Amino acid sequence: MLIGPNTVVNFSYTLTSEQGDIIDQSPEGESMSYLHGTSSIIPGLENELIGKAAGSEFDVTVKPEDGYGERIEEMVQKMPRSTFPADAEIELGMQFGAETAQGQVTVVVTEIEDDFVTVDGNHPLVGMTLRFVGKVEGVREATAEELDHGHAH
Ligand code: ZN
Repeated sequence: MLIGPNTVVNFSYTLTSEQGDIIDQSPEGESMSYLHGTSSIIPGLENELIGKAAGSEFDVTVKPEDGYGERIEEMVQKMPRSTFPADAEIELGMQFGAETAQGQVTVVVTEIEDDFVTVDGNHPLVGMTLRFVGKVEGVREATAEELDHGHAH
């Protein structure tokens, strides 16, 4: 079976930056799965996997436009300290969900001043060229339930 619409794919991978630093990798002996064609992984990787079978290896370099996009300055916001609960411990690097014009996003605290807290809603890998090296571990037909839910089980 080849990767295409309505298939569930298992793959293992190592993600590195353009400079070769390891950013992320699937745990030893484990793979991640996704329902193909649902944009649950970045387009540059999803497109690369089309037509591959179990056992196929891949090595793809993904530009930001096919990855996590370019940095959006509007996603960086300076919020009055008073919008947070008075007893909230706010620390640099802290993440929380925030409601924005783009919907629910995860933001990270990037600066703390006396009266203001700056948060950044950009994905941590935004603007980066990414290299994925890995192997297709399995391809199978999606179940009716998975297609109904729009994700792999
Ligand atoms: Zn489900």
